[in-house]
Amino acid sequence: MERYWNEEIETMSRDDMKKLQDERLVKQVKHVYDNVKYYRDLMDKKGVKPEDIKGTDDLHKLPFLSKSDLRDAYPYGLLATPLSECVRIHSTSGTTGKRVVAFYTQNDIDMWEECTARAITAAGGTKDDICQIAYGFGLFTGGAGLNGGSHKVGCLTVPMSSGNTDRQITFMRDLGATILCCTPSYAAYIGETLHDMGLTPDDIQLKAGIFGAEPWTEEMRRSIEKSLGLKAYDIYGLTETSGPGVAFECSEQNGMHINEDNFIPEIIDPETGEVLPEGEIGELVFTSITKEAFPLLRYRTRDLCVLSRNKCSCGRTLIKMSKPKGRSDDMMIIRGVNVFPSQIETVLIEQGYSPNYLIEVDRINNSDTLDVSVEMNPNQLSDKVKDMQKQERALAEAMKLMIGISPKVHLVSPKSLQRSEGKAVRVIDKRKLHD
Ligand code: ADP
Ligand code: ZN
Repeated sequence: MERYWNEEIETMSRDDMKKLQDERLVKQVKHVYDNVKYYRDLMDKKGVKPEDIKGTDDLHKLPFLSKSDLRDAYPYGLLATPLSECVRIHSTSGTTGKRVVAFYTQNDIDMWEECTARAITAAGGTKDDICQIAYGFGLFTGGAGLNGGSHKVGCLTVPMSSGNTDRQITFMRDLGATILCCTPSYAAYIGETLHDMGLTPDDIQLKAGIFGAEPWTEEMRRSIEKSLGLKAYDIYGLTETSGPGVAFECSEQNGMHINEDNFIPEIIDPETGEVLPEGEIGELVFTSITKEAFPLLRYRTRDLCVLSRNKCSCGRTLIKMSKPKGRSDDMMIIRGVNVFPSQIETVLIEQGYSPNYLIEVDRINNSDTLDVSVEMNPNQLSDKVKDMQKQERALAEAMKLMIGISPKVHLVSPKSLQRSEGKAVRVIDKRKLHD
């Protein structure tokens, strides 16, 4: 039977949810207008007053905020409460440039931990579980966010942080951890290490994994589920909106429910800013309607996905977002063709290769080049150069079918590419060096 952390909210009727959102939005817009000069100026420039926003139907009237606004306003320019009310900061991982900082009041922390508690419960977690948190602790939101939710649920919480993989496995075995929280790339690495230690999933007790903070494919999900013997759940979030837990997966494992009582999602056309109808792919935009210290309105995440209100078998009525395909800025444009790292990952795993790969893009003689280094599994090694070349050609063919252009594939020895303990770096774009 499906368990909920907050049944009232998670299964609320659409009408009641809209009413709640309407009320909270009106209050939030006023809070921001009165306290954040940066956003007030944006609203004034657009000619929108707080009175114009009577509910979610008026959301589209508000100006957007983007990462560059966060950088302009760094560090205190978007703060909406006195600093004395704030109890913590976190900061982005800086995956795509200068870090931004976000502020939290105690209420903001409580709301965030409520969201991660919902995620842990949806993954089957209860107070009887032992939850190993192998997301990084520190400025990164992953560790702290799931740690807080795990406490709320009442799990025995093991705040391991990331790294020291042998010790992760030792603790996991000794304590009998039942839930693992970390990035999917780190989960894959833990699975690989388990195997290298001569162990199998039968030697550990994990039943669920809560993996997020970076894009990962369905193929990667299946591969982790097999190597660790668990059911893998996706979790999504970003520092700007609090951290992981903005959306979480349920037993259906088909898209993530958005905690709509706190975050209103929209999908927009990234080029024109126009709001797109449900079901179309576009850029995800969030409005935080309960955050006090750092309440971003219409924040453009740059993540591309689809929203859906289709009925979910878990009974939750919260709207669902598809797995983000990657950020709009992860998308590589190679010889005029749009390519996502996830497409390459899908081909690799389908063809029986490991999810350890590195994509290098360059421009040579005015033409873009795409090189993909792929680690072989030990059983794919061959001492005949001819065999290896054949394998490389076959992989390049399969990738061409998926992405439309021909990459150069380099098979490299097992374990020669760097493993990730946090967010994996999959792409090196050397073209930027020449610009
Ligand atoms: P940074 O932007 O520096 O990486 P964050 O740690 O705040 O900082 O990362 C948030 C971003 O991570 C999201 O905008 C999204 O691109 C990515 N992300 C988080 N969770 C997921 C997920 N489950 N699937 C895909 N991408 C995710
Ligand atoms: Zn569901």
